[in-house]
Amino acid sequence: MTELIYLDDSYIREIDAEVVKVQDNRIVLNRTIFYPRGGGQPNDTGYIDDARVIDVYKEGDEVIHVIDGKISRTHVHLKIDWDRRYRLMRMHTAAHVLAGGVMYSKYGAKITGNQLDVDVSRFDFNIESFDRDLLENAIQEANRIIQENRLVKVYYISREDALSRPELVKLYNRDFLERLSRVRIVEIEGVDVQADGGTHVRELREIGKIELVKMENKGKNNRRVYFTVNF
Ligand SMILES: [Zn+2]
Repeated sequence: MTELIYLDDSYIREIDAEVVKVQDNRIVLNRTIFYPRGGGQPNDTGYIDDARVIDVYKEGDEVIHVIDGKISRTHVHLKIDWDRRYRLMRMHTAAHVLAGGVMYSKYGAKITGNQLDVDVSRFDFNIESFDRDLLENAIQEANRIIQENRLVKVYYISREDALSRPELVKLYNRDFLERLSRVRIVEIEGVDVQADGGTHVRELREIGKIELVKMENKGKNNRRVYFTVNF
C-alpha cells in the first residue's frame, strides 16, 4: 500500500521514500507525493532521483510510477514538477467554485464529465436552458466568490455519512464511495462540498481569475465549457 502524502498536504514538492517494488520501468514506493491520474485530474510528472517520471497511475492500493531511466538505490528522492501541479491545483479548485458552487447550486446544472489540464480545463453540464449569457454570469459569480478568499478545508467522514449525503458527489460517479471505509471531503465554506481525492489550493485567492475559453453544444441538454485560470 502506498501512502498518499498529497492527500493531507498538497504543497509538498519534494520528499524521500523507500522503493517497495520495481518491475521494468514501473516503480512502487512506500509513499508518494505524485498524484496518479484519476477523477478528471491528470497525473503529476517530475523525478525519482535522476529518473524522469512520465506517468503515474493507481492499481489497487498501490501507486505505479512509470519512469524514463533507471533507479539504483532503494532510498530515493522524489520531486514533482511544481509549476504543473500548482496550475492543476488552481484549475481543480476553480472547478469546484464554478461547477459546484455556481452551476450546480444556483442553476441546478449536473456535471456529467470533466477533464482538468494545465492550459485549458473542461466540463460537461447537463442543463436545458443554457446560453452564453448564463455562462458568463456564472463565471462572474464564481470570480466574485474567489475574491472573497474563502478557505478550502479537507477532512474525513465515514462511508455511511457520505452515502447519506448525495450533494457530496457532484463531479464524479458515486460508485467509488462504496469501496472506501472513510471518505475524504473537500469543503469550500458556503460554496461547495465534495467527496474528492484530488489536490486543491488552500485559499480561493490562489486561483486568480476564471476565464471562459469557449462553449460547445454536445447534444440537446449537454454543454461543454472550456475555461482557464489567470492572474
Ligand atoms: Zn476536488
